Amino acid sequence: MIKCQRCGIRQAIILQQHTGLALCKQCFIEDIVERVRREVKRWNMVNPNDNVLLAVSGGKDSFVLLDIMSMIHDPSKQVALSIVEGVEGYNREEDIENMRKYARERGIDFIKVSFKEFIGASLDELVARSWEKGLNTSPCTYCGTLRRRIMNYYARILGMDKLATAHNLDDEVQTLLLNIVRADRMRLIQSHPKAPVLSDRIVRKIKPLRKVYEWETVMYSYIKGFRFQETECKYIYLRPTLRAKIREYLYRLESEKPGSLLRLLETMDNMLEKIVNIHQNLPKLPLCKKCGEPTSYGRELCKVCELLEKIGLG
Ligand code: SF4
Ligand code: ZN
Ligand code: ZN
Repeated sequence: MIKCQRCGIRQAIILQQHTGLALCKQCFIEDIVERVRREVKRWNMVNPNDNVLLAVSGGKDSFVLLDIMSMIHDPSKQVALSIVEGVEGYNREEDIENMRKYARERGIDFIKVSFKEFIGASLDELVARSWEKGLNTSPCTYCGTLRRRIMNYYARILGMDKLATAHNLDDEVQTLLLNIVRADRMRLIQSHPKAPVLSDRIVRKIKPLRKVYEWETVMYSYIKGFRFQETECKYIYLRPTLRAKIREYLYRLESEKPGSLLRLLETMDNMLEKIVNIHQNLPKLPLCKKCGEPTSYGRELCKVCELLEKIGLG
């Protein structure tokens, strides 16, 4: 039996590739919780009195977010929001119920909202209309744009101070490289934990799991026995290809040189912090002429209104 290299008592069952340490279940879990706690503290993501909205999908990362946030912040100041996109075979009532039950057990309130309730159409209906019109907008574009809108809207009307999402380290580094490849300076600044909030109508987003590898959230979920959603969305094969390529490349890099993703994000955090500090006083974003929500500089309509107009749902 190989002993855990942290506690030296229990049996080691996991090799933490980026440190080379063999760990027991308890030390593996404790290490992740501590890393999240440190990251939250480092960027001052949550103050003790903050009300936090947790955006949860029912997948493994959402369970990990809920679990750790309930340990490091007062559960009575948190609400979990589940968004039902309306994709046949993907949004299952059973998965939502599992999430609701788990949140409530941790003392966190749970609310659910669907695309259908919010804009009058499910994602399946939006995609069908888009295909009828011959548009080649990816279903993920409708999905991501609307989800971001719904999350921010609910965070604001519920009077939340922060909006927490379950993005993990792999997601974060993919986004980072994507923005570098596209030379999207604004998005690069906005992805940093100290990015300025560019509108009074936007609730600050936080990503507590940003230094936790995806494989670690999988392992964490199995160890804790979470009954997370494993069904894949039927539109996954239509996901934008550049992100998929970057994801594949990063996977190979990490397998050959463990720890690469962590070092990449840490280096970029430090480099971007100086640039982000210079850009703290950017002007406020303009408001959409149609719905009054914030939109990008130089635009009259927001992305949601623009997408819906194109498919005749203006
Ligand atoms: Fe939404 Fe695309 Fe994910 Fe499906 S694969 S849930 S459409 S982002
Ligand atoms: Zn141990
Ligand atoms: Zn709008």
